[in-house]
Amino acid sequence: MLIALAAALFHRVFAPSSAHAAPRILEPYAAIHTAHATLLYHPGNAELANTVAEVFEFAYAALGPELGYPKGKITIRIYDSTEEMAAGLMALLGYERPKAELIAMIGMSPNTRSTMHLHARTKHWGPYLWHGVTHEYAHGLVEQGYGAGVATSARWLYEGLGDYAAERTLKPKRREFETAWSRSRFRLAFKALIRRDLFPLERVTTEEQWLGNMAKNRYAWDVEYAQAYAAARYLVERYGFDGLRRVLEGIEGGLPCQAAIAKGLGISLRGFDAASQAFIFRRGMAGLWMSRTAGLTLVGGSMVVAALLWLRTRRKGVKAREAVEAHRAVLASGPGYAVTGAARTARRRAAPK
Ligand SMILES: [Zn+2]
Repeated sequence: MLIALAAALFHRVFAPSSAHAAPRILEPYAAIHTAHATLLYHPGNAELANTVAEVFEFAYAALGPELGYPKGKITIRIYDSTEEMAAGLMALLGYERPKAELIAMIGMSPNTRSTMHLHARTKHWGPYLWHGVTHEYAHGLVEQGYGAGVATSARWLYEGLGDYAAERTLKPKRREFETAWSRSRFRLAFKALIRRDLFPLERVTTEEQWLGNMAKNRYAWDVEYAQAYAAARYLVERYGFDGLRRVLEGIEGGLPCQAAIAKGLGISLRGFDAASQAFIFRRGMAGLWMSRTAGLTLVGGSMVVAALLWLRTRRKGVKAREAVEAHRAVLASGPGYAVTGAARTARRRAAPK
């Protein structure tokens, strides 16, 4: 309780000032301390807090070698309501109300200024909770390493990296979910490509453009995330983490997205966009082929099993007929039995005239 009071006082004194007066946040009063994080939550959310603590420590260890480690301990705050979370984002991160409310409505915020904000609603996210927490944590590492400019001037890369880092990191531990997730993302991006619904990457670079698309409708929201994931994955698979680092360093140095891509990868943003769409096309076609192959395998496999069963029954039939014949022969050859014509003839011939 004393700690909570001290924390409340601390935030009151040090909260960034904004045009709006910082709203009061209901201070969480239960805490879990892990090796690299402190989780603050309302007592009703203990189960969620424990899961998030586990995800966080896993992501910390797994993402470290590629994206680095946070400089200090991370605070993870779990809120009970959208209003409370929006208030927390405004008070602690200085977000304007519309942005704070949008993020609170989504349910998770990036690990910015060593703090992650989560809505208790995320306990209903099921297996996606792991992906979401890792995605947001990766955002924080990118911001720490290369500045906040990545989020505001190369948003597709920032979001795509969050999803790609989560998928890559979690795959060894949660293969089934991450594989299914990745396939569904490529399927959506492929569908959008065919329908010409993909956004040109140069139009999803600023935060304003990104949030604007999210606000349009759920389809536009999903498409921009799916294509960002594909583009970030293509970048790393084609140019490696060194290529990615060169682009991020360019952005850190103040270059706009187009120039950072040109300098880091030696290709224009439009050229990269076209290559990334070709990657989506290849993955989409592979997905179609795979589903067709799965279908063909099922039909072919069923036919082989049916043929084997038929052969087995036939062989059994032959054996059954052979057994009947043999039995008849035994009966015919025995004394006093006259079953077959041949036996009758033999007996007749043998009989004295
Ligand atoms: Zn994100």
